[in-house]
Amino acid sequence: MTDKARGKILEEALLAGSMEVDKGETASYIPELSRADKHDLGICIYTRDGEIYEAGDSQKRFTIQSISKVISLCVALQHCGFDKVFEKIRMEPSGDAFNSLLKLDMTSNYPYNPMINSGALTVVSYLMPIFSFKELLDYAGKLCLDPKIRLDERVYNSEMANSARNRAIAYLLQSKGIIECDVERSLELYVKMCSLSVTARSLAGFGLVLANGGIHPETGERLLDREVVRTVKTIMLTCGMYDGSGEFAVEVGIPSKSGVGGGILSVVDRKMGIGIYGPSLDKKGNSIGGKAMLKYVSEELNLHMFAWEP
Ligand code: GLN
Repeated sequence: MTDKARGKILEEALLAGSMEVDKGETASYIPELSRADKHDLGICIYTRDGEIYEAGDSQKRFTIQSISKVISLCVALQHCGFDKVFEKIRMEPSGDAFNSLLKLDMTSNYPYNPMINSGALTVVSYLMPIFSFKELLDYAGKLCLDPKIRLDERVYNSEMANSARNRAIAYLLQSKGIIECDVERSLELYVKMCSLSVTARSLAGFGLVLANGGIHPETGERLLDREVVRTVKTIMLTCGMYDGSGEFAVEVGIPSKSGVGGGILSVVDRKMGIGIYGPSLDKKGNSIGGKAMLKYVSEELNLHMFAWEP
């Protein structure tokens, strides 16, 4: 396919996304996020042969939010190992909202998976004693091929001032012996990781590293082990869009992870990374325009993981 044809598909994808944005709202439980313009939309595709295609607000900075759960999981699997990470965190879709604590308390003593808040708070509690925030920030910059990633202090402060629910989850985890280190410091590190400012292009870069089996696409450096990447992509497919993961897998068929800042990280295995920005969210906290853009691109470029090769 020519560059022009790909460019045209991205413009059409933006149009498809823009038809949806009025049906959603920006996240309001973190006041600073509600200030985003809900009409913003951007998409970036970064292919394995080094081409970058982008359209709309693909270079606008926004906070990574839950997509940081993928970074934390990668680092934890890489440095603490599979057995430690999954000793007290399960690998099952929860079917509940990302910040629910119902099943954690009532039906399971362990978080359902690392892509919801209870699981990610646990993962970050494993990282807290061994990594400083600065080291994790550098890691994020490497994995996203974006050395400009920074902490967005306004969003961080805004979320810390409104973190009763995550604090409740964290203390519940401590009461069950799942978080064993300092709860407040773990919560702070978790919220800092959520407050990293990225672009759709940075997410496309991260998607490409994952699509490429953990190898930096330009330098050939191995950033993550193959087994780590395989585990992370599988969990993204089954749990990455919260309680909307099943429908998204059927309709779009690309392992993805969303965040309430409006980002989506998508991995077209062995082919490309896709990054999305669109802060208008559906009821489950997924970018509403972003989902429409990914559905369009998946159909037009035949990217569904179970699509029949034409
Ligand atoms: N920082 C947000 C929270 O913990 C991230 C949630 C999300 O992106 N779904 O509630």
